[in-house]
Amino acid sequence: MMARTPLMAGNWKMNLNHLEANQLVQKLAWTLKDMKHDYADVEVVVCPPFTDLRTVQTVVDADKLEIGYGAQDMSAHDGGAYTGEISASMLTALGCTYVVLGHSERREYHDESDELVNAKTVKAIAAGLTPIVCVGEGLDIRKAGDQVAYTLAQVEGALKDIKAENVENLVIAYEPVWAIGTGEVATPADAQEVCGAIREKIAELYDQETADAVRILYGGSVKSDNIADIMAEKDVDGALVGGAALKADEFAKIVRFKG
Ligand code: PEP
Repeated sequence: MMARTPLMAGNWKMNLNHLEANQLVQKLAWTLKDMKHDYADVEVVVCPPFTDLRTVQTVVDADKLEIGYGAQDMSAHDGGAYTGEISASMLTALGCTYVVLGHSERREYHDESDELVNAKTVKAIAAGLTPIVCVGEGLDIRKAGDQVAYTLAQVEGALKDIKAENVENLVIAYEPVWAIGTGEVATPADAQEVCGAIREKIAELYDQETADAVRILYGGSVKSDNIADIMAEKDVDGALVGGAALKADEFAKIVRFKG
């Protein structure tokens, strides 16, 4: 089985203007450099607001930082009369390599359906972006014990008509909605239950090789003091980090979860 490179992705949400983004990326780079161990074995990605992307690109390019970046959403359309939208090719032109799709806040506040997430995923892949496709159940579904079935249906919806060779490069983030921004963390066993089921589902939809290649992240109140236990689970390959990604020291510690 091929080894999967751990991925720590910071979702800044609607925080930090371009000046603050400049500071945070530089501070993150210094902090990572100052740490005792290098972080070459962990991929680091930040997902700032659209308006910060050009600034992040400039800092990353100028200092040749090993920090990837991407957007928090994108349009399912290629271009044209879609006021307020941003296309995949606009993101790649800014050096983005990742895009978060189907975040629960997009699903909840912008009514994003599995069909729309699928359409965006198809466009992102076609443009050469790596989608970080977010899935995960709300509290009522967790209480009913239906988290696995619910989340797998979202995975299946997002991947509709996508070929195995494209699936192996994508990233799926399991983010139980009740754990996002609440301080409520899923236990490592909760994370493994669903992340393991997602990998099995991909093996069923495609094949074992594809399932072994896909990176599955956990997201939901990840912090430096809980990341190591979560990363110890066999089907968790990294984290999508919200609040803790806004502090360079804290995010750097998450990246260096091995100590
Ligand atoms: C997120 O927004 O994807 C997230 C996991 O947020 P937080 O880490 O703040 O719970």
